[in-house]
Amino acid sequence: YAKNNGRDAYKFFEQEMHARALQRHATEVDLRHALERREFILHYQPVVHLRSGKIVGFEALVRWQHPERGLLLPEEFIPIAEESGLILPLGRWVQHQACSQAQKWIMAGLAPMTVALNTSGFEFRNKDFVTSVRTMLAETGLEPRLLELELTETVLINNTESTQAVLSALVEMGVKLTIDDFGTGYSSLRYLQQYPIYALKIDQSFVSQMVSSEASKSIVHAVISLGSNLKMRAIAEGVETAEQYASLLALHCDDAQGYFFSEPVTAEAFAALLQADMSH
Ligand code: C2E
Ligand code: MG
Ligand code: MG
Ligand code: MG
Repeated sequence: YAKNNGRDAYKFFEQEMHARALQRHATEVDLRHALERREFILHYQPVVHLRSGKIVGFEALVRWQHPERGLLLPEEFIPIAEESGLILPLGRWVQHQACSQAQKWIMAGLAPMTVALNTSGFEFRNKDFVTSVRTMLAETGLEPRLLELELTETVLINNTESTQAVLSALVEMGVKLTIDDFGTGYSSLRYLQQYPIYALKIDQSFVSQMVSSEASKSIVHAVISLGSNLKMRAIAEGVETAEQYASLLALHCDDAQGYFFSEPVTAEAFAALLQADMSH
C-alpha cells in the first residue's frame, strides 16, 4: 500500500509540475502580446502623511487584465516577466503611465504628489535604465524630485559597479531611492551608509503585528529611529487599523499606506480621493 501510495503521490506531483510548467509557458506567451494589446492597468494607492492625514503621493501597482483569466496580481506575472526579460518594456510602460498620470493631476491643480514605483533588480542592472528614466521624465514633464524608485534589499546586496553607477546617476538627476519591504530581505546596514537612500518602507508583516506583538512593535520603532538618525523618511506599509495608525503616529513615523486609508484603486477613484482630500 505504502509503495503504491507513494507512487501515486509522485505521479500526482509530476502532473502538478507539468501543469504548472504549461501555465507558466502560456503566461509568458500571453505576456509578449499583453503590452501591445494594452492589457495592463495601474492601480494607485495613496501615501498619507501621518500627522496631517493628507495624501502626499501614491504608489503605482500594476495589474494585468487577462482576457481569459481576469484581473491578475503582480505575483502571478512579475516573476515570469523578470525571467523572460519582458520586465524591461513592462517597467518602462509602468513608469510612463504613472508619471504622465501624476503630471496630469498636478496640472489640473491637485497638489504636487510623489510617484512611487516598484523597480526590479533587472531594471537597475540594465545600462540603459538611467537614459530611459531621463527620457521618460522629459516626455511626461514630471519633476525628478517627485519620483521615488522603490528597490529591494536584494538589489543592494547583489551590488555591482554598474548598479552603483545607476543608483548614483539617478540620485544626481534628483530622483529618490527608497527601500521596499525593509527588514525582510537580507539586511545589511552597511548599504544604508553606502547609498543615498531617501526613505525606508517598513514591511507590512511588522506593521500588521505591531499592536499584538511587542517584538514587532520594537522592530517598527527601531526602523523609524534608524531612519530618523540617518535622515531617511519612514513609511509604514499595510496599515489596516486605527490602532496601528495611532501607534505609528506615537512612534513618529512619517508616512503610511494601507487599507485603513485606501486599497489600491483605479485612476478615476484616486482622483476622487485627491479631490475629497483637498476639500477639507
Ligand atoms: P509592494 O511594493 O510591497 O506593494 C504592497 C502590496 O501590499 C501591494 O500588493 C498592495 O496591494 C498590498 N497592500 C497595500 N495595503 C495593504 C494592506 O493594508 N494590507 C494588506 N494585506 N496588503 C496591502 P500587490 O499590488 O499585489 O503587489 C505585490 C508586489 O508586486 C508589490 O509589493 C511589488 O513588489 C510588486 N509590484 C507591483 N507593481 C509592480 C511593478 O510595476 N513593477 C514591479 N517590478 N513590481 C511590482
Ligand atoms: Mg512597493
Ligand atoms: Mg512593500
Ligand atoms: Mg512586497
